[in-house]
Amino acid sequence: MYRAPLAEIAFTLKHVAGLPQVRDAYGAEELGEDLVEAILTEAGRFAAEEIAPLNKIADRQGTPFANGTVTTPEGWRDCYHHWIDGGWNALAATTDFGGQGLPVMLNIAALEMWNSASMAFALGPTLTMGAVEALEKHAAPELQEKYLAKLVSGEWMGTMNLTEPQAGSDLNALKARAERNADGSYRIFGQKIYITYGEHDLTDNIIHLVLARLPDAPAGTRGISLFLVPKFFVNDDGSLGARNDVRCAGIEHKLGIHGSPTCTMIYGDEGGATGWLIGEENRGLACMFTMMNNARLAVGVQGLGVSERAFQQALAYALDRRQGRAPGDKGEGMSPIALHPDIKRTLLAMQARTQVARAICYSCAHAIDMAHLAATPEERAHWASRAGLLTPIAKALSTDFGVESASLGVQVHGGMGFIEETGAAQHLRDARITPIYEGTTAIQANDLIGRKIAREGGETAKRVIADMRDTLASVQAVGDAQFDAIARALESGIAALESGVDYLLATYKDDIKSASVGSVPFLKLLGIVAGGWQMARAALVARTKLEQGGVDEQFMQAKIVTSRFYADHVLSQASGLAYAVVNGAAGALALSEEQFQF
Ligand SMILES: Cc1cc2nc3c(=O)[nH]c(=O)nc-3n(C[C@H](O)[C@H](O)[C@H](O)COP(=O)(O)OP(=O)(O)OC[C@H]3O[C@@H](n4cnc5c(N)ncnc54)[C@H](O)[C@@H]3O)c2cc1C
Repeated sequence: MYRAPLAEIAFTLKHVAGLPQVRDAYGAEELGEDLVEAILTEAGRFAAEEIAPLNKIADRQGTPFANGTVTTPEGWRDCYHHWIDGGWNALAATTDFGGQGLPVMLNIAALEMWNSASMAFALGPTLTMGAVEALEKHAAPELQEKYLAKLVSGEWMGTMNLTEPQAGSDLNALKARAERNADGSYRIFGQKIYITYGEHDLTDNIIHLVLARLPDAPAGTRGISLFLVPKFFVNDDGSLGARNDVRCAGIEHKLGIHGSPTCTMIYGDEGGATGWLIGEENRGLACMFTMMNNARLAVGVQGLGVSERAFQQALAYALDRRQGRAPGDKGEGMSPIALHPDIKRTLLAMQARTQVARAICYSCAHAIDMAHLAATPEERAHWASRAGLLTPIAKALSTDFGVESASLGVQVHGGMGFIEETGAAQHLRDARITPIYEGTTAIQANDLIGRKIAREGGETAKRVIADMRDTLASVQAVGDAQFDAIARALESGIAALESGVDYLLATYKDDIKSASVGSVPFLKLLGIVAGGWQMARAALVARTKLEQGGVDEQFMQAKIVTSRFYADHVLSQASGLAYAVVNGAAGALALSEEQFQF
């Protein structure tokens, strides 16, 4: 069972991530509080009542492949069509092609709920939304006219084709070929692997976005172009024509997300798949980055969604299951395991991780919205660089937290967690892909320390740290035990983060090996401290609300307690991570490949 945490989502949107600022920039009348509430409430209902019940069935059934076709699990097709009829695919898409043009923040909040209900279900639309954004930004008007409206509505779905057997994290190695046709189209040849929803029976057409190289392209990533390759050609009147030369050769058998087909796609077996260029020749990677950045945040939201679902399930189990006598329990018989101090700690560890992932993902969405909506070019640039810094953190920290929460959820269930029947194991299996696809955690960390920190002399990171210090001053000014504890951990976390940034700035240029070996610990350090900052801000709002009165006191008190828990149990890890970043290179790099013990 899943229940949408609407109060939590609304609180984070409004008081932590900055929806009011986006609303002002967007137009307060068009984005009234009633509209926001109605959207979130209906998304929560749809996720809980219509998608969530399919999650377990899909896990068992998978997506059988036969004769080149993929069959999605029972109930999937009806649910998908009901979902697109509700306009959910079009929430943040441009109004020029039938979208609702709402802020990314709202779409991300809805996406959390789709993912909590079923990650495998939400994954297909996630990629379609990314394809829509890439086409909106980079495709020629004729291509937009032909394809965008049906992708925006969800009548057709989109895919993302980067990976090849020899080219995963490293797109320099990409081999798929493209040749020019006389009519301005291209012929595409090659094999792509692990293509999510590359083939399925949900929609009549599938629009593949494919990276390939032209014969005269420069080597490396400067020689990659992006093409739109439809499964079926589209006639000028919008009807479907003949089948293109692209087929699914098989699907993968995976640890999790069984409801989502992962396909091997063959392009050009019979003379070439016809494709059309998106953007300019050899500039395809930049266009694909639009889709990838969109998808990186969306995958972070998968981590958040699974974390929430695993938490809800663990909490329900912990209140029901009885074992032993918890210290201090005066009730009859055995205690609910939720009363054992260690289970309480575990549940809080899950709850705090979920809240941090939510705050970071929504804040990233806020920065993306402000990068479009802010009044001046300077402000837009400020928010764009903040979105750039937050994207790898949203992706990597939230997915790590998703896996950790799902694993803790299994632990709360004891032996039953290992038994498929409860569903706790499915959350862990599903979550495990999230730190891998859309750029592994290591690739996010490389992006963070290289492009987002060293290249700009740490400017954006330092601005974020200055904002953290402002929050710290407010927390210190409160002067009670809870807030003093939060302030202590936040102060030492910020100092640890500063030492990590200084180290990177000092070493990246001349000793990239040492900087790189600490990149993942640094990403975690920045993520954990940013999480502590957001939790502190949430606690300050909760305190003000409690003082003002007329609010749900339990909810607000729990916010403060969860923030303190996070400070004591997670934010306190910051100094250890900084130690590893600053001092860990020598030890980590000392062993040669030959010295590893077999
Ligand atoms: C279920 C599933 C769905 C997917 N969906 C899609 C999709 O729709 N479209 C698509 O194009 N791809 C998709 N992928 C592919 C996915 O994005 C890649 O698997 C991922 O990017 C990693 O590439 P790889 O598997 O080749 O691993 P590798 O690149 O071989 O990496 C192996 C290990 O080496 C590390 N590593 C590699 N390079 C570096 C480096 N420079 N610095 C530090 N560490 C490094 C990695 O972090 C990783 O731990 C999907 C994969 C799966 C499993």
